[in-house]
Amino acid sequence: MITVVKLRRYYDITTRFITDENVAMPASYPAALLRVVCCTCRFACIWALGMATGVNTQAAVVASLRPLGFIAAAVADGVMPVEIVLPDGSSPHDYALRPTDTLRLKNADLLVWVGPEMEVFLSGPASSLPAARRITLASLPSVRPLLQKGGEELHENHENDDSSGDDSHHHSEYNMHVWLSPTIARRAAEAIHDRLVELIPEKKQQVDDNLRIFNAVLTKNDKNIATMLAPVRAKGYYVFHDAYGYFETYYGLTPSGYFTINPEIQPGAQALHKIRTQLVEQKATCIFAEPQFRPAVINAVARGTSLHISTLDPLGMGISLDKESYARFLSQLTNQYVSCLEKNE
Ligand SMILES: [Zn+2]
Repeated sequence: MITVVKLRRYYDITTRFITDENVAMPASYPAALLRVVCCTCRFACIWALGMATGVNTQAAVVASLRPLGFIAAAVADGVMPVEIVLPDGSSPHDYALRPTDTLRLKNADLLVWVGPEMEVFLSGPASSLPAARRITLASLPSVRPLLQKGGEELHENHENDDSSGDDSHHHSEYNMHVWLSPTIARRAAEAIHDRLVELIPEKKQQVDDNLRIFNAVLTKNDKNIATMLAPVRAKGYYVFHDAYGYFETYYGLTPSGYFTINPEIQPGAQALHKIRTQLVEQKATCIFAEPQFRPAVINAVARGTSLHISTLDPLGMGISLDKESYARFLSQLTNQYVSCLEKNE
């Protein structure tokens, strides 16, 4: 009976996929073929789906964002493959799920995400997964006390009146870019470890070893990063969006500010004027854009100043998944800070 229900679900997903994606060949042929295959053998059906969609249908940890995938890949190394929902170059602030993502999420043995305040696009699919098959990082008792308050948006009507009492900010209370905190990364790794041990108790030894190696690599990397950042810690700079608070606090960097808390909302003329004044007054060295956002406002603000424009990647685009990818991600971010801030030494 269970098999029949499962077959029905796979078949529904397949036909919906063919409709949604507008597959180049006539939909009737593969749909009919898959119907026969699906009714013949469940494994053949899973194989056919995997071939048709490019989605891995074996057991997997699915991470919402690449950096969470880095942490999961270290803990699940040799135990379970890790897949990532958000494609490189996309922003978690405005992503919309594709049909292939929906299939990937339905097949997930474990979903790792920050929570609905960050990945709005996952709110529905995450809530339909059983609690045992998802880790909502921002809600973990071990993470909750470590959350930083979110930044203030640069509202035009705040420019000249700090006592206006207008507190109608439309953003979450906390900064949800938690993957940029090495401390929260360790908590996330522990949570993934505990859940994998529950799911696959026979692999406990390997998962234990993986967690130990992850923490050891992070400790070693931590010292290198602190050494690299030491000469530039006092340098002022602006970032495009308020994503880096955890990393900056952890390593004692001194940002002058950010352009926006929501990358979809660009600052207005008055806010830009204020930023430009601050940049000059504070003798800031750099403005950092992001690979996901290269807004024209950054060029406009920097024009006629000695500011350097550079890029920070908060999502680790292009970094492959393995035991040390999270450490490589933080090192890459460090290099991006240092290569700009060390100018004008
Ligand atoms: Zn962000």
